[in-house]
Amino acid sequence: MNQIFSTPRESIAFHPAIQRNPSMVGLRCIGCARSYPVQDLPTGCPHCADLGTPASLEAVYSALPETLQVASSGYKWGAWLPYMDGISLGEGNTPCLDLSRLARELGIRQLTAKHEGMNPTGSHKDRMSAQGISRALDVGAQTVVLASSGNAAVSAAAYCAVAGLRCEVATYRDMPESYARALYRFGAKRFVFEQSFDRWAHVRQRVEREGAFALTNYSVPAVGSPVFGVEAYRAVALECVADGCVPDHVLVPTARGDLLWGLYSGLRDLLAAGLIPHMPRLWAVEPFPRLSRVLAGESLQAEFAGQTAQFSIAGSTVTLQQKLAVERSGGGVVVMNDMDAAQGVSQLAAQGLWVELCAGSCLSALASLCTRGQILPSEHALLLLTAKGDRDTFDVTR
Ligand SMILES: [Zn+2]
Repeated sequence: MNQIFSTPRESIAFHPAIQRNPSMVGLRCIGCARSYPVQDLPTGCPHCADLGTPASLEAVYSALPETLQVASSGYKWGAWLPYMDGISLGEGNTPCLDLSRLARELGIRQLTAKHEGMNPTGSHKDRMSAQGISRALDVGAQTVVLASSGNAAVSAAAYCAVAGLRCEVATYRDMPESYARALYRFGAKRFVFEQSFDRWAHVRQRVEREGAFALTNYSVPAVGSPVFGVEAYRAVALECVADGCVPDHVLVPTARGDLLWGLYSGLRDLLAAGLIPHMPRLWAVEPFPRLSRVLAGESLQAEFAGQTAQFSIAGSTVTLQQKLAVERSGGGVVVMNDMDAAQGVSQLAAQGLWVELCAGSCLSALASLCTRGQILPSEHALLLLTAKGDRDTFDVTR
């Protein structure tokens, strides 16, 4: 392991008012449904972890709003999230873009893209950073640690900078230069590893021995990222519905399913509140068979090796949260290789949208689902464009 130190940064004294949502009354396991008080359990439900079948926790709210009224201060959708106010760089409120020309080409009624590349550091991860790092401040953490080789790392580094917290990122050696430069600029400390599981062991040590705050998973078998960050993705569902976008299908580039679960969680609660007429079907898009093998009967705790240039959704693990999100919404999984993804990137670029490689894969997955008759001409699909494309090193022209 090598340590790459960046410029030292003095801790800043100013912290915004961190306001926990008073209606967040506990945590609940998404697998066994056991309840826990609000606390930090970065490896998920202790009971399920002991059984060797890790499961994520979700927040339990005693009351949720009955309308889609946004807050006048703090986080606009804070009443639906763990924190109503806290660290922010202006994340969220990304545009829902109507892609009518592509919809006509695909033969469906409507196609919308939620452009998460418009977030402050260029990806949906800024939502998780805002809620997760507000949690870190709330519990008095000094250091935030995570394993990431891309968007989450850059996002956490930026949000830790504004929060005045130290940020440590466990990455691969071949992290693209554009990301490494951003980490340096934001003052994060980078630890380089050859193997994915070594990164997680490093995060575990920092958390369990030294009290650092974990922003991402470090368990093997894998679980999702800690609950306060994942809950942030509920706002994606709220924003879409507030914009009048209630699709029949949502396609999400997926590694361990944080975004997928957050979307599911938000849509489920919107449906329960009578604010949407039906549950959209959620489709996980993956670069090689992982979740698809689990849905075909393999163990969720197995390792599923595969190579991909879609580094934002690489990795060899499957989590319970992604499986439950597709099963409970009536969706499924689509495998799209790098060439499929590159074709999607090109088609989106022709609409003026330059996105990361895995975001292109969800357009190709949509075409595949239309061809297979799983999305009908009368239906409306939504693509989650997870990040902008200008720092992706994959050459789509080759
Ligand atoms: Zn459990």
